[in-house]
Amino acid sequence: MNLQGPGMAEPVISVRDLVVEFVTRRGVLRAIDGVSFEIAKGEVLGVVGESGAGKSVTGAAIIGLIEPPGRIAGGEIRLEGARIDNLPAEAMRRIRGRRIGMIFQDPLTSLNPLYRVGDQLVETILTHTGLSPRAARARAIDLLAEVGIPAPERRIDGYPHEFSGGMRQRVVIALALCAEPDFIIADEPTTALDVSVQAQIIALIRRLCRERGTAVMLVTHDMGVIAETADRVAVMYAGRIAEIGPVRDVVKHPLHPYAKGLMGAIPTLASEAEELVQIPGAMPRLDRIPPGCAFNPRCALAIARCRTERPEPIAPHPAIARREHVEPGHRVACHLAEAPQ
Ligand code: SF4
Repeated sequence: MNLQGPGMAEPVISVRDLVVEFVTRRGVLRAIDGVSFEIAKGEVLGVVGESGAGKSVTGAAIIGLIEPPGRIAGGEIRLEGARIDNLPAEAMRRIRGRRIGMIFQDPLTSLNPLYRVGDQLVETILTHTGLSPRAARARAIDLLAEVGIPAPERRIDGYPHEFSGGMRQRVVIALALCAEPDFIIADEPTTALDVSVQAQIIALIRRLCRERGTAVMLVTHDMGVIAETADRVAVMYAGRIAEIGPVRDVVKHPLHPYAKGLMGAIPTLASEAEELVQIPGAMPRLDRIPPGCAFNPRCALAIARCRTERPEPIAPHPAIARREHVEPGHRVACHLAEAPQ
């Protein structure tokens, strides 16, 4: 069985059985509970779900930014085959920026408002490459041009506040590309932008990923963004992956009742979904995740077993071959989907 997406090469990033916990006065809360996925070179994996689903915590775990009282309590994360979840903080700091780029929702969290964008780009390039300052500045101008900043020779000396929101996000993307990383995490990269600018930024991420062969994990609550950008999508719910597969398959034929509800919530894609389902209720708090399937209180299809027995987590392991149906690599964690197709 192909353990990755259809036709995938060796994965750039591999997450296996990841568990992230937070130690609180109310006890140990499990924010990520057995998450596994892989992303190949040049592939965009969209990770979608409501607020609290565990999307951003998964991203933070990959880049080594789970701070106490949080902790990685299980599983492993590999970059190009080498474990990175157990590295000392200093080694992980070097990997961030050099081998893993980051694009966040608010460009101002990535850009220092007091420094010209060119200085920030050049400093990052100097940190991560052996280029001379002059060559680093030329590289920064090239990068600004590549991400679509007009007149980059002039704009390189501007301050972040002199750029529009969309242009600032382009600068952040250039910053993330400075060290030519193998892998980029883009966490809600377009949420703060106008709809027309969103489309441009999505197209830019998509193009850069393809051209450079960079693996991208695109975290968003917006299924429309995923449908436009991603090759595959992982639908997360309450710290678990409910469904994963090629984006067209999951959009057209969602199998998990939660994923069906999410697809019904995308106006532009609703007509392509097999059925439209509204999702009643809300994502459970971490200290109130119900036994059995975490989605069972909201699920119109729940059976008695759903309230006591958790569906087997989706894992890149041959044992879950029986979950492979509809299309290769399309897998779902739901008792009802376990019956032979
Ligand atoms: Fe619904 Fe049960 Fe499937 Fe969970 S396992 S999504 S409760 S049918």
